[in-house]
Order: sequence, then C-alpha cells, then structure tokens
Amino acid sequence: MAYNVVKFGGSNLKNPSGIKRILKSIICYEKPLIVVVSAFFGVTNNLLNAIKLCCRTEFDIESFIDEIKQQKLDSVKNIVSNPFLLDEFLENLNQRLSELYKLLSMVKQNKTSELHLYDLILSYGERLSSLVLVYALKDIKYECYEAFPEDIGLITDGEFKNATVNFELSRELLNTNLSEEKTYIIPGFYGVSQNGCINLLGRGGSDYSAAAIAACLNAQSLDLWKDVKGFLSADPNIIPDAVSIQSLTYAEAAELAYFGSKILHPRTPEPLIEKQIPIRILNINDLSTDIDPLTIINTKEVYAHNVIKSVSYNHNFGILKLVGSGVGIKPGILAKTTSEIDKAGINIKSVITSQTAINILLSQDDLMRAKRIVQELNIQGINSINICDDISLVAAVGEGLTSRHGIAGRLFSAVAQKGINVRIICFGASNVAMYFIVHKNDCNETIRAIHSEFFVPQEYLV
Ligand code: ASP
Ligand code: MG
Repeated sequence: MAYNVVKFGGSNLKNPSGIKRILKSIICYEKPLIVVVSAFFGVTNNLLNAIKLCCRTEFDIESFIDEIKQQKLDSVKNIVSNPFLLDEFLENLNQRLSELYKLLSMVKQNKTSELHLYDLILSYGERLSSLVLVYALKDIKYECYEAFPEDIGLITDGEFKNATVNFELSRELLNTNLSEEKTYIIPGFYGVSQNGCINLLGRGGSDYSAAAIAACLNAQSLDLWKDVKGFLSADPNIIPDAVSIQSLTYAEAAELAYFGSKILHPRTPEPLIEKQIPIRILNINDLSTDIDPLTIINTKEVYAHNVIKSVSYNHNFGILKLVGSGVGIKPGILAKTTSEIDKAGINIKSVITSQTAINILLSQDDLMRAKRIVQELNIQGINSINICDDISLVAAVGEGLTSRHGIAGRLFSAVAQKGINVRIICFGASNVAMYFIVHKNDCNETIRAIHSEFFVPQEYLV
C-alpha cells in the first residue's frame, strides 16, 4: 500500500479546537501515513520579528520565549488529559525552547543574523507544532513518531532561506529511514544541506516539503488541509459567491499560486508531476467521516465551460521600466540588466519589452535595489529608469486559454466596459495563464468584471 502524505497548515493550528479537528481528520486515514505540519498561525512571523528585534538591547528574549511557551501550553492543556504525557510534553517543550533561547541569544550577542542562524531559528515554529501534535495524538492512543527532516534525510541544495530539495539523495534516504509500519509527524518548511545546515524552503514552504516527501515516497496522494473551500474561482473577499473548482491541472494550480492565490505554495506541484501524484485540497471545517476533497489537482485536463477557471491577483508586483528610443532593438541591453539584477539575488518575475521600453516585473520589495543596480551600469541607450509600484497584476487561468479563440477579447471588453485602463498584457507565455496589469485601485473592479463575464451561474449548470 502506498503512503498517504497529509499536510496541515498554520490556519489549522490556531487554537485547541483546530488541533482537535486535525486529530479527527488524521484518524480517518489508512496507514502508511505521513503528517507534515506548519508552524502555529503567526509564529513564523513572530520568530522573524524576534530576529529583527534582537539587535535592540531592550529586546527581552526571555519574555518572548515565555509567550510562545504559554501559547503551546494553553493548547496542549486543553487537549492532553493524561498527566504523565503532559509532564513529558512539558519537558520536551522546555528543552526545545531553551535551544531557541540560545540561538536568539547568539543573534543578540553578535548583533547580526547569520544566515544559518536565521534558518535554524525559523525552523522552530514547525518543530514546536510537530511536538504538540505528537502529544495530542499520543493522548488519544494513536501511535506516532516525530521525525525531523535532518534525521530522515530531506536533503536540500544548500541555499539558505529558499532552498530546493535534492530529490535523488532525499529519495534514497527517506525510503531507508522511514518505515511503512509507523506514522510520522514531520515539521515542514525546512530541509538539511549535505553539510548539515538547516535550510528553509521559502515562505509558505511546508506545502513544498510535503510535496517533496510525497514524491520521494511515491505516495498515493498529497492531501492539503485548509480552512477554505478549496481553490475558488476568485478571492471570496471580492466575490462572495465565488465557486469551488473541482479539478485543476498541475500547471493551472502552479500559475494561480504564482499569481497570488494564497492556497498553495507555487512550487508544490513541481515534484509531483513526474509520478502523477494528485494534490487534494480539503476543508477542515467540513470534516465528515470521509475524506472528501474539494479540489483535485492532477494531469487530467478538464476544460471549464468558459475556459477560465479562476481569476487571481497580486499586489506585490512592481515594474522597473527602462526607457530609451531603441532599447528593444539594441542587442545586449536586456541581457546586461537582467543578469546584473539576477546576480544581486533578485528574482525576476517577468520581462516584457517593446522597441522603446523594457519592463521588468519584480517583487515590490526589490524595486529600489534593482533600480540602483541598473543606474550604476550606466548603459548607453537607456534614457530613464522608472519605478511603478501602484499596480496590481491580475491573472486569468484555465486550460485552453491560448487555443480557444475569443477568450482574451471577451475578457478585455468586460474590463474596458468598466472604464478600466489596462497597462500591460502578457498572453501566450503559458498555455494556461494570461496576465495583465491595472492600477491598484482598479483591481477589485477588474476581478468583478471578469468574474461576472465568465462565471454566469446558469452557464455553470450546463
Ligand atoms: N511557517 C512557514 C511560513 O509561515 C511555512 C508554512 O507555513 O508553510 O512561511
Ligand atoms: Mg502555508
């Protein structure tokens, strides 16, 4: 029997009732089973903040640690009734928190956050979650074992903060070190480099950890438990009657995640495609005795009636615009600028060029730094370098977008009818996604226009 790999995120780990729901869903699964957990809701951000505050003398590590301790104790006291287990939990919790205390003290003393300390400290959010879950399960007499990525061999490429899993090495080690007879609780979000350093897998990366583990073990599925109704046709804060999407391809899911849908880390599908392991999205709030996924992501191409399955947006993109009368035709300008930006460790999200302008799409946080880099290059032919950070990127996703005619026309007429000005359009780079840029203030109206054009309820019934 192949493994089930199941992941619970921070939104499931907010309070004792969330943990109880996790227990209820774990017992629905057949074995062999692997459970991957994120940090409790907000804890990664708190740890990040603590690292930043360490450089201030007034920052009191002890009270920071006490707060975390109280949060975990409050949860566990509500769940674990066996006093021996509670004592054992407390002992382990103290041990883990004293390790965290030492690490934060090291940052405080050096007044720097060396990269290896940064990654190690942030991994404690997940390590505390796995500890809580193990004791909560033990209390209901569910046998399970905590397994750290560094002990079982989830090996990375060695990059700090945003590592990639080394599948060749990890596959061999995980299959040797894990036994199908046991249920493991594994902290997500990090792996270990070949020389033993803890490496984070990027923000939101425990989806990717779980996917990597599922791929290495050739699991039957990867189940991601969320507190929303699966992938939706749009953000329900903008479209209250957005509908759940039952089926997505890996490519559709990756594009939606890349362009802003928060439900999945964009790298999650990557390891699973080759073995065609499905990702199933489930809602912890409508837990029955069955495992009933809302969205299934696999290779099956299901065409939506109107092609577009979902529309997402991202406010975090910005444009670095290089203007000059011949930038499009002069050789080398694009290569020179993008390679220098890349060398500085800045991720280029997209590049759209014309004869007179090169538009480089970046994360807003990187705009100023990228501008300085290009200014210093002093390239002949670039007359001005502008930054545009008042934009939103809107993406429409669906299999068939590039092959079915008339979809783009219909979409942009719907947007134009609302008097919205579309600044840049990118169509054709991916077979399943098309994206464009509007002013930030127009974003919600754009989403509403597209949604009402493509998601007419009667057509849904067809
Ligand atoms: N706790 C980590 C984060 O907040 C990883 C995750 O939640 O997936 O980024
Ligand atoms: Mg997450």
